[in-house]
Formats: sequence, structure tokens, C-alpha cells
Amino acid sequence: MSSAPVFFHVDLDAFFASVEQMDNPGYKGKPVIVGAAPGHRGVVSACSYEARKFGVHSAMPISEAFRRCPQGIYLPVRMKRYAEVSGVVMGILGEFSPDVRPISIDEASLDMTGTSLLFGPPLGTAEKLKTQVRSRAGVPLSVGIAQNRFLAKMASDFKKPDGLYEVRPGGEEAFIDAVGLPKIWGLGKKTLERLSAIHLDTLAKLRQMGEDSLKSLMGQATGNFLYNAIRGRDIGMYSDTAKSHSISHETTFPEDTSDWEIISLSLLDLSHQVMYRLFAENGKSRTVSIKYRYSDFSTFSCQTTLNHLVASAEELYETGVKLLKAKWNPQVPLRLIGIGFDKVQPGEGSQQELFPTAYDRKGMVEKAVFNMQQKAGEATPVKASLLQRPRRGRR
Ligand SMILES: [Mg+2]
Repeated sequence: MSSAPVFFHVDLDAFFASVEQMDNPGYKGKPVIVGAAPGHRGVVSACSYEARKFGVHSAMPISEAFRRCPQGIYLPVRMKRYAEVSGVVMGILGEFSPDVRPISIDEASLDMTGTSLLFGPPLGTAEKLKTQVRSRAGVPLSVGIAQNRFLAKMASDFKKPDGLYEVRPGGEEAFIDAVGLPKIWGLGKKTLERLSAIHLDTLAKLRQMGEDSLKSLMGQATGNFLYNAIRGRDIGMYSDTAKSHSISHETTFPEDTSDWEIISLSLLDLSHQVMYRLFAENGKSRTVSIKYRYSDFSTFSCQTTLNHLVASAEELYETGVKLLKAKWNPQVPLRLIGIGFDKVQPGEGSQQELFPTAYDRKGMVEKAVFNMQQKAGEATPVKASLLQRPRRGRR
């Protein structure tokens, strides 16, 4: 028993597609593709491993996916349902560690340091964790174990799907060798091209370079990252900032549009999805961001930080509308719109406020509905609030 650092990285396998396969057992073992509808624009949000065999992958245009896999089962994104399942998973993870950092809807980093006294050695604990998630949340997952979050993240990817891999202390460099230079997390295509251009294209060659030489060749940040990453050392990933992260959703319009009715209704729908994600992971935020892409693919984003926590989907929506109206040139149609929270922190929202505003009351209703759905364990989307156009805020 020791208290050497231990981290788990948990990554749900093909998450959206796995939820669809859980909810519709007839889809099990079949190529399930979640995203835009074939014949329309937009991309693959997620696909099952059966679909990946056809060369389909996430972010691929849906038309290309359909060309490769016409026999696939094409389904729309049901974000509220995924947020519910994600909430169940995060709850289970919380039974294993007091420090669970959600990285995204289907990923989390857990500090397991010192838990061996409670649970036993990490590998067995990870097996238990996997069993709990599979039986109670119903979705498959992969877990990586290592002495730092960076290696744990790569270890979770190493045996996917349904993977479990532990990088043992002392085995860091050997693990990086097994992963291979191109697949080191955080190493971009441009950096790889640059390394190749200067003939520093193997791990062995790179490890012969001193940190200062790497910095002068590649720049301070990249040089520092490379020097540590190839040795399997912590690259500072998630260490300070990850307690705060972002939650956002975006949508591609069926056609480019300047129609405010369509744009604002999309923003409202997205705001509800984002707010449910925030509830699901028990987060809070004051910072609202929007993203918009014009028909020529030029893409912009901006954000604003309120002096209070955002209390409801409606407040998120109205803040997003203000941001968009201040920036958007309505002469140019939009192709895509997105909205989200930045700097999400763990913890409850502003429900305990002494004098609740209209937004706070709305938020309480939204949260109550969310909790009911969590308990019922079923996907009952709240459509009423979406159909009702919100009034102007008073805050
Ligand atoms: Mg995943």
C-alpha cells in the first residue's frame, strides 16, 4: 500500500451510439451512426464500432458516411438522453473518488491517489468500476490507469473498446514507445510535420535532444510539451484548468439561413441541451460563449462573463442572443450556430439565493424536471419549455 499518485481516465466507448444500442437492443451489433440525417448537411456525431469497420468516423460529413455504409442505422442526436446517462455514470465515478473531473460528456479524469487502502490495488478497482458502470448505466467504457492524468488518458485509449490498461510505475517510456509518436495525445499534425521536416521523427531521436534544444527548435511551449510527453511525464494536462472546462453544443442548419426565427429557436434548443449537461454533471458557470459560422465557413466565437451564475436555459439563451446580435452581420447567412458555458466549475448553481429572480425560478423548474427524469431513468424530453418563446429577461 502506498500513496504514490494514481489516476484513472474513464472514456465511454462510442458513447452516443452505445446509448442508442442500450435503448434499442435491436441495434446491438449493428452499424449505428448518430448525427445528421443522410441526404442533409451536417456530420457524424458518433458511431458504433460496427460502423467504424466501414471507415465511418465522427466529424465525417454524413453524406460520406452514407456512401461508405448505406446499410447503417442513422439516428438523430438525443443529447438530453445522453446527458442523463452521463449523469448516472459521473455519479458512479463519484463513489470511487472524491475528485472526479468531467472532461466532456463521455470522459472523466479521477484522482485515485490513496484509495488503495479502501479499494485495493488499482487494476482490481478499475475492474469493479467498469462492472458498476456497465451494469448500472448500461454503457461500455475503457479505463486507463497511470501515475499522471496524461498517461492515464492515453492508456484509456490503448485497448479500446471495453479496454483496461495500467501503465505501471517505471513503464512510462515503454508505454509511450508502444503508443508511438504520431498517437501521443496533444501532438498536432503541424508539429509532426515540422518534426519530420527536421528529421526528428522517432522517439529515440527526440529523447536524445535536451530540453533547451527542443525549445529552440520548436518554440517554448511545444518544446517543453515534447520533452515531457515523450518521457511519459505529466504535461500539466487538466492539472489547474480542468476543474474548469467547457460545455457546448452546436448545430448545422439544413440550409444557410439569415432567418432570425430559425436561428433563435435553434439557440433556444441548444441552450436547453447545454443546461441539461450542466445539471447532469452538477456544474455551475458565469461565462456564456457562442460560436457562429457564416456560409463561407468563416467561424467566430465570443463570450461574456456575468456577475452571477447562469440560472436557467432561458438566461443562457438570452445571454447568447445578446452576444450574437452584437456581432452577427445578418447580410451573410449562417451555416452553423453553437452556444455553451466556459469555465464550468463543480458545484451547485444559484438555487439557494435569497431573492430568486425569474431566471432562478425557471432554473429550479428545469432542475426539478431533470431530477425527475434521472429518477425515472427514462428519456422524457421537456418540449413545453422549448415551444414557449421566452420573454425578455429582467436581470
Ligand atoms: Mg468516448
